[in-house]
Amino acid sequence: MAPPLIRLSGVRRDFGTGEAAVTALDGTDLVIEAGEMVAIVGASGSGKSTLMNIIGCLDRPTGGSYEIDGRPTASLDPDELARLRREYFGFVFQRYHLLPELSALANVEVPAIYAGVEVEARRGRAARLLERLGLGARIGHRPSELSGGQQQRVSIARALMNGARILLADEPTGALDKASGEDMLALIEELNREGHTIVLVTHDMSVAARAHRIVEISDGRIVSDRRTAPRSTATPGEVLPKPGGWLSSGLGRLREAFGMALKAMAARKLRTMLTMLGIVIGIAAVVSVVALGEGARQRVLANIAGLGTNTLEIFPGTGFGDRRADRVRTLTVQDAEALAGQPYAAAVTPTVSTSATVRFGNVEANALVNGVSAAYFDVRGSILAQGSFFTQDDVARLSQVVVIDENARSVLFPNGENPIGAVILIGNVPCRVLGVMQPQQGGFGSSQNPQLFLPYTAVQGRFLGDLSLRSITLRVADEVPMDAAQEAVTELLTYRHRTQDFFIFNQGAIREAVTSSTETMTLMISSIAVISLLVGGIGVMNIMLVSVVERTGEIGLRMAVGARRSDILQQFLIEASLVCFLGGLLGIGLALGIGTAFKTAGASITFVYSGEAFAVALACSTLIGLTFGFLPARNAARLDPVAALSRD
Ligand code: ADP
Ligand code: MG
Repeated sequence: MAPPLIRLSGVRRDFGTGEAAVTALDGTDLVIEAGEMVAIVGASGSGKSTLMNIIGCLDRPTGGSYEIDGRPTASLDPDELARLRREYFGFVFQRYHLLPELSALANVEVPAIYAGVEVEARRGRAARLLERLGLGARIGHRPSELSGGQQQRVSIARALMNGARILLADEPTGALDKASGEDMLALIEELNREGHTIVLVTHDMSVAARAHRIVEISDGRIVSDRRTAPRSTATPGEVLPKPGGWLSSGLGRLREAFGMALKAMAARKLRTMLTMLGIVIGIAAVVSVVALGEGARQRVLANIAGLGTNTLEIFPGTGFGDRRADRVRTLTVQDAEALAGQPYAAAVTPTVSTSATVRFGNVEANALVNGVSAAYFDVRGSILAQGSFFTQDDVARLSQVVVIDENARSVLFPNGENPIGAVILIGNVPCRVLGVMQPQQGGFGSSQNPQLFLPYTAVQGRFLGDLSLRSITLRVADEVPMDAAQEAVTELLTYRHRTQDFFIFNQGAIREAVTSSTETMTLMISSIAVISLLVGGIGVMNIMLVSVVERTGEIGLRMAVGARRSDILQQFLIEASLVCFLGGLLGIGLALGIGTAFKTAGASITFVYSGEAFAVALACSTLIGLTFGFLPARNAARLDPVAALSRD
């Protein structure tokens, strides 16, 4: 003989321990055969729901044994119990337990998702079930748009979704008016006639009278068990959609969890926005700082590009930070001449500089006054727009002649007058303009300032009254490697000065220095921004923890209809990482907005964005979601289905 569908032998259920211990079931023996319609009746607190939960594998006995189809359940793990719930049971609750953000159709679909049934098949079945229960016109409605009786029908359809060989209904009519309750009972009777085994909990004797067997329970013990009619001998002949396709794979389940997470987020838009706020700000900060650092670096590099790749610049002192450099007076014209005599030097110019007010007519401006030799233009590869350079002769004679740059020309000769031959007043020294240089990127200092180029002898004699040099610029001969030239210069000058009281810069070195210093800055500011990201992550965790508590009922329901712990874990993890991913996207958008705002405001700061930075930002935010979402998700997955269901 086949084993009974359900057999409880000496089942105990104790809650708590010691003083506070409550025995809800006290050695219950109960056998239910397939096709029965059993009502379990008893006073409130007598243990009906506890018995029901144990039968439905939502709860475990603390003593005795429970077998389904002859199979003991004691040793099953939570996922195997979830599987039993999917394969054997359909639950109907007094308070329906529908998910408010889902339509009737989507609610009915849920159990099939966890059973691994493909979209088309489960949607078709859900629609047919709702149709059959008279809700064909309501499949798109949310639970809040349905009456109590209609909601309970939706929950019956959901219970039937996976076949429901055993339909467990805990006070299914408790929240319904008389007419809806009557409909519900008629429906349950009809299902029993079709072969579904029914276990119905009620405290209402008129409801119980509709069953074929009434089991009365009092203080955790069965006190009577009466059969009033024979059981249904029909066997449910319906063909269930087969689980399969790719949904039974991990990837398919992931896709489903993704969809559920999106729905949950869409249902709580404001909260979702607030959750991601910290991430948005954090990502915007990091992306902006990185873009700003890159912008600054590129700007400085563009400025020094004019130095030329094959020039060496020799300064007094030990480095740019050397405060005594101003007082080191050792770099001399003789040094420049000695260097000019070396085979590796293609051209050498000493440079001195100062600033002065320059006047022409009634125009007055502040200008940078460079004293250079005739070779300067050769060293720098400067090109004339107009006129000519001064000669070595002018240098020797301290001539008061000047070559001006494009900025100086536009400032001093705003009306397009011919500057060549004009006499301008630099400080109070009149100088004749010889030529106008084409605009040139380069050198330090701002390229917006007017620049004037005079023989260095004239600048020393008439402006500085001092023979020391600001620097010596040397263009290395084409065939000589830079390193070798730099070494030779160092050796020569060290020999001449008997000490190394100078330092040499070339474009490569400056490039390196600038890059490394902007990288350091970017790293520093970014690490502060990363802290704000972590704070954002903690915010996500907090809100998710609250969210899990708030959605306990939903989690319990999902478990009751067969969700594994991993399904729940996945759902919440995906929600957390999706929220953070979206936060990352918005943060990047915000950073782009900030850059555009700066640009339109005419700021000289430029933001240089890189796709790489975006990718890293998105990866980081998603990772933060996964990390900080883990704790809440684990809490959700570890919830006990019974406790979760009863908390509302
Ligand atoms: P019924 O459904 O018949 O009203 P229950 O099965 O819900 O009764 O409860 C039976 C007894 O077990 C009651 O005394 C109740 O207080 C107790 N009980 C039920 N669930 C818990 C629980 N999770 N923790 C402690 N006691 C519980
Ligand atoms: Mg109860």
